[in-house]
Amino acid sequence: MADVHMGEAETFAFQAEINQLLSLIINTFYSNKEIFLRELISNSSDALDKIRFESLTDKSKLDGQPELFIRLVPDKANKTLSVIDSGVGMTKADLVNNLGTIARSGTKEFMEALQAGADVSMIGQFGVGFYSAYLVAEKVIVTTKHNDDEQYVWESQAGGSFTVTRDVSGEPLGRGTKITLFLKEDQLEYLEERRLKDLVKKHSEFISYPIYLWTEKTTEKEISDDEDEETTEKKEGDVEEVDEEKEESKSKKKKVSQNRAKLAELLRYHSTKSGEEMTSLKDYVTRMKEGTMKDILGDKVEKVVVSDRIVDSPCCLVTGEYGWTANMERIMKAQALRDSSMGSYMSSKKTMEINPDNGIMEELRKRAEADKNDKSVKDLVLLLFETALLTSGFSLDDPNMFAGRIHRMLKLGLSIDEDEGAGGDDGEMPELEEVGAEESKMEEVD
Ligand code: ADP
Repeated sequence: MADVHMGEAETFAFQAEINQLLSLIINTFYSNKEIFLRELISNSSDALDKIRFESLTDKSKLDGQPELFIRLVPDKANKTLSVIDSGVGMTKADLVNNLGTIARSGTKEFMEALQAGADVSMIGQFGVGFYSAYLVAEKVIVTTKHNDDEQYVWESQAGGSFTVTRDVSGEPLGRGTKITLFLKEDQLEYLEERRLKDLVKKHSEFISYPIYLWTEKTTEKEISDDEDEETTEKKEGDVEEVDEEKEESKSKKKKVSQNRAKLAELLRYHSTKSGEEMTSLKDYVTRMKEGTMKDILGDKVEKVVVSDRIVDSPCCLVTGEYGWTANMERIMKAQALRDSSMGSYMSSKKTMEINPDNGIMEELRKRAEADKNDKSVKDLVLLLFETALLTSGFSLDDPNMFAGRIHRMLKLGLSIDEDEGAGGDDGEMPELEEVGAEESKMEEVD
């Protein structure tokens, strides 16, 4: 692009399969083009999840742009629609690799699925959702700023190649990504506020960041209308939570070092007792927990690992590179036509990260150590897992089971004897497990 804002453009060829995919997207007739917006918003949401997660352990990562948001900016004069997010952004290498030179296995699989009659709206499941932009755009410009790199611009009209250019004097994003779609002449409906608003409601209901619709404010009257629209577009559950987490992490860091000292002591004790040399605290905790917890959780998680990046909570769930994100899983669960076998496969790709410094984990470890088959440990681990599902944005497969466990905890908290209190609701309880011994054990948790 001959633009004064630009450094020198480097041209890259699209990888062959991506090229094929682009031709298919551009040349095949699909009426259901509107799904492109859901895909781009979903990518933004993923990018926001990433930076939000990074910020839990290092809040300075948000400095470039403290607010977490998604903005839709239709520009009627230029016939462009931009999707802007303050997510993690992409480095130059990310741009080159993720958007054009390295094809994921899903690229080919998606083309095959299309040939077999799959709908284009399934594109996101194959990990190539970005390219759906070309359903409605003849040209796409991606401007992006990652914390670890300068601002770069990716540009392509498909046709075999794309360029990447350092953005020397374009408007700085601070952090995040702006995807600008130069809409095809017959796709100008995506400049209409009403259409965009309805689409967001229809397809992006579960996005947990505010989605703002920018409107062109030309006359006084329109301004008030616009303001109205902007408020309705704002979704719940936005940045507030993050601020809380930031605040908490400050005070928790102190506690962390205290807990580490305590654990170091335990490590010495255990090494002497077992005669096995534990080289590190992590080694010890890992051995005690990863195994036991994975045994209990079974296929619910791909693996359990000890993590040193969680400051506050006992554990969290993250999805692997090829697993579904929480948001994707929700969308997929809501989709009637999903392939259920794929669903269970993708859903299982979760990693449980546990925080060795958390008191709950420490106590659980002690109990598991005392009795590897302790039923209350099993119950508590499952409860932890289900709670982590919820806090990490997943939904529960069996809410009644979860409720059962909670009720059980409540009974213990209220010192109601399991036998006499069981009464009618026993049937709803998850199959649990020798009663007497647990009660005294449970009390120690608080
Ligand atoms: P998927 O999102 O399923 O991985 P896509 O083709 O939609 O596949 O996107 C490819 C990659 O490009 C993403 O994995 C991500 O690394 C990067 N990407 C796309 N959109 C964004 C965005 N808004 N912010 C940051 N990275 C993005």
